[in-house]
Amino acid sequence: MDEAEATHTFPKQLFKKMGEQAFLCPRYPLEMGGGGDKITECIMVEELCRVNVGIAGSLMVQSGLATDPIYRHGTEEQKERFLLPAIKGEKIGAFGLTEPDVGSDSAAIKTKAVRSGDDYIINGTKMFITNGPICDYVVVAAYTDPTRRGEGINLFIVEKGTPGFTVSRKLDKVGNCSAETGELVFEDCRVPAENMIGEKEGGGFAQLADTLISGRITYGARCTGTGQAAYELTAKYAQERIQFGKPITKYQINRFRIAEMAMYLDVMRSYTYRVARLYDQGRKVRKESSMVKLFTAEILQKILNDAMQIHGGYGYMMEYPIQRFWRDGRLFTITEGTSEIQHLVIAKEIGL
Ligand SMILES: Cc1cc2nc3c(=O)[nH]c(=O)nc-3n(C[C@H](O)[C@H](O)[C@H](O)COP(=O)(O)OP(=O)(O)OC[C@H]3O[C@@H](n4cnc5c(N)ncnc54)[C@H](O)[C@@H]3O)c2cc1C
Repeated sequence: MDEAEATHTFPKQLFKKMGEQAFLCPRYPLEMGGGGDKITECIMVEELCRVNVGIAGSLMVQSGLATDPIYRHGTEEQKERFLLPAIKGEKIGAFGLTEPDVGSDSAAIKTKAVRSGDDYIINGTKMFITNGPICDYVVVAAYTDPTRRGEGINLFIVEKGTPGFTVSRKLDKVGNCSAETGELVFEDCRVPAENMIGEKEGGGFAQLADTLISGRITYGARCTGTGQAAYELTAKYAQERIQFGKPITKYQINRFRIAEMAMYLDVMRSYTYRVARLYDQGRKVRKESSMVKLFTAEILQKILNDAMQIHGGYGYMMEYPIQRFWRDGRLFTITEGTSEIQHLVIAKEIGL
């Protein structure tokens, strides 16, 4: 893990090791090599984030965005070629929606896929793509019909080595350094029509919505695991740090802050698992999944901020692990729908 952080390189062997033990994509059915349900995935993710948020993030793309559209909407052949090898860790997946000029307003993507005989020709650039530099395939969102905003989007599976597909650069990040993030360019990239997910042109946006709902619940577990690590480090440090002749936990402000962390984490965990359970039962949880992500990501910021404050100057030193969780957890109000976008979704769902 230390090497991964220092070199900003994902330890790729983890994919195979976890796949062999059915730990890589826990949300899928047992017979496919998964763990059976969403709750199992949340438990795994929480524990992974307690150790290393970047590594967990990379694995989460594999078990979520890069495989979920194929699982839900892919053909049997696509499942054989991409989903099952991904669950086993034999293929690494990535997911490309965001572009240099398009983030939250995802219906505004400019990438296009134009039919040409038995193929589609894809042109466009994807930005901030987790696993992009190490992937064997990427699920790319592109317009087949740009006149139908949102509706005219499809998802395509583009394999590494396809002419016209390049990783133009690996991006240097503030945190989540163990996950590799890149910019991907598609230039007259010809992919067979059978690599399109779904049977007809259009509808890819709706396919994405399902995937994002599931991912937002996973964020609850990511935030809880990250917060748990920060809390444990802080409680330990504060009991050991002596100032004015006694441990700093003896001062009420620190004591209360740590007590609040414990309380917040309990609520974060309980809420995440409640919504994960509803999801496993097949209930509609669009609103709740956004609430989970918004709540846990925002409360995590308070936990991380307090954790750093209680660590004092040492917290700001690279040799103390709290800084890593503070840097890594900062991401969670931004990715897969910012906190502001979650507010918009919730407001719409409650009829405002
Ligand atoms: C480390 C990392 C990994 C990522 N991995 C992937 C990946 O694997 N695949 C992928 O496709 N993308 C990925 N992303 C992209 C990520 O999902 C986007 O960064 C995110 O959706 C936000 O888009 P943006 O950064 O363009 O911000 P913008 O959309 O430009 O937003 C900037 C600010 O404006 C606010 N804002 C925007 N619109 C509104 C509005 N209507 N009302 C109020 N406020 C608004 C936002 O909330 C935000 O605070 C990754 C990003 C990072 C940083």
